[in-house]
Formats: sequence, structure tokens, C-alpha cells
Amino acid sequence: MIFAANFKTNHTRASTKEYVDTLLTKKSLFQNERLYIFPPLSALQKCESDIKIGAQNAYMIQSGAFTGEVGLEQLDEFDINTLIIGHSERRELLGESQTMVAQKFQFFKEHNFEIIYCIGEPLEVRENGEDHVLEYLSTQLEGIDTNYDKIMIAYEPIWAIGTGKSATIAEITSIHNALRKLTQAPLLYGGSVNLENIREIIQIDNVNGVLVGSASLDAKKFLELISLSR
Ligand code: PEP
Repeated sequence: MIFAANFKTNHTRASTKEYVDTLLTKKSLFQNERLYIFPPLSALQKCESDIKIGAQNAYMIQSGAFTGEVGLEQLDEFDINTLIIGHSERRELLGESQTMVAQKFQFFKEHNFEIIYCIGEPLEVRENGEDHVLEYLSTQLEGIDTNYDKIMIAYEPIWAIGTGKSATIAEITSIHNALRKLTQAPLLYGGSVNLENIREIIQIDNVNGVLVGSASLDAKKFLELISLSR
């Protein structure tokens, strides 16, 4: 199973190091799992253990005049070759268009990155029924090679992110089954995954892992979440 921790704008360089050290005290818990953590860009660091550290964002450039962004050169310094692309907070709050998201995908695919590619619908689309959800998700897959061998697709309904209200098992099952018809890539679910619901979610067919925000911020709790999945 894949467990990915998205810190968003939480943790510092020092606390990220402590976090990784805490995880490494319980290595046996995740020796058969794939573990990723995505700290803020200022906390990126080389990690020579089995835990992969990735970036929450990067710009599709080697280096250049893109104020506030990091490019390939800055990621290379820390041997970072894993990236989240298309997170709803970047799409919605920072205005990343599908065109930009697809350009980022193409660039980092060409550089052989592992990519967690996020898709997910807003509440008003969900309220119109699943056909509308599927239609919406397909627009978020435009320009994306879903057969790229290093893509993982994370289904994260926007209304479930950070709200404490996860999608239901039926909703996740149905969307993941539909996605499975499109790709053999690992499929993650994200959106209020926590200690209470992880067992059920991880057992759903075609859920190959989870992308976790709030419930990943405390290393001990994240370890507990992993242990509950076994
Ligand atoms: C996320 O933003 O990717 C996420 C899944 O957040 P949370 O777990 O807090 O809902």
C-alpha cells in the first residue's frame, strides 16, 4: 500500500527531520509499504532511507526568472524526484489551470519524476450526481498520460479535504472502479482520511493507498494510521 503525507504549509525544516526520525524508529511497520512525505519546499532534504521525500509543487523549468517558484535545479540539489501535481488547493486557491497542470505533468514526466496527480470535484458537481463527477474528473485528466509508469492518481473530492467528512465507501468504490477502467496506475484516495476510517478505506477494491493531510501531521499518529491498515 501507498501512504503519502501532505504537510501543506505545516512543519519546519527541523520538525520535518524529527518527523522522519520518528518514522524510522518503526521501520518494520512500513517495510512492505511505500511511504512518501511532502513537506513544505523549505524543508526539502535528502533522505537515504526507504521513505521518499517529495515536493508539493514545482515549476516546469530547469531554472530561470519565475519569482517564488522552484525548478528542477533546486529539486535536484536534494535528489527530489517525486512531485504532487494538480492538488485542488493549487487549482482553486492559486488558480492553476488544467493547461498549466498538464504542462507541469509533461515536463516532470520527461524528467522521469514519480508524480502523484490529484483530481477531485467540488461539492456542487457531486450534488448533481455521479455522471457529472465523472465528466468533471475527465476534464482534469486532459493532457495527462494516465499510462505513464510513474503516475499515481489521487482521487480527492474537494468537499472532503480538510473537512472531517470523507467520501463514503460507496462513492470511493464507484469512482475508483471507473478510474481503473482508464488506467492500471496506482489509485489513491484522499480527503479526511483518519484513524477512524482508514481500515475501511484501505480495503476498498482499487484503492492502492491514501494521500493524507491533517491526519499525517503528527508522526506518531501517521504511524498508527499505517498500523491500522495492516
Ligand atoms: C489533502 O489535502 O491532500 C488531504 C487529503 O487533506 P486532508 O487529509 O486534511 O483532508
